[in-house]
Amino acid sequence: MHETDMTKALILTVRDWWEAQPERPQISQIHLTVGRFTCVEPASLQFAFEVQTQNSFLQGAKLVIRETPLIAFCHRCQQEYQPEIGIQYACPTCGSPMEDIRSGRELKIERIEYEQFNYMS
Ligand SMILES: [Zn+2]
Repeated sequence: MHETDMTKALILTVRDWWEAQPERPQISQIHLTVGRFTCVEPASLQFAFEVQTQNSFLQGAKLVIRETPLIAFCHRCQQEYQPEIGIQYACPTCGSPMEDIRSGRELKIERIEYEQFNYMS
């Protein structure tokens, strides 16, 4: 469900961009950064994207997902560490609870690739 709603939001964002383009280009790829801590399953996202873009302006476009790890920063130890999602979030050195997340919550469109129109005859 989570992924379905997110895909809707993603498509709306891309559509806003696309409708603002004078040429309405054919979009070939959407590059997305997804943090591990968003709990978004890339496979589910891919599936939702394929279903929701059928017969739309995004038909045939590919979703390229880059995952970023969860990285936290421990202020007591002054160092970064990688919590194990769902298992252990505290600092492995001193046991302080996770409070400062440096990476892993991203969910953003990195770039959109589209076909350049070619007017050469
Ligand atoms: Zn620590």
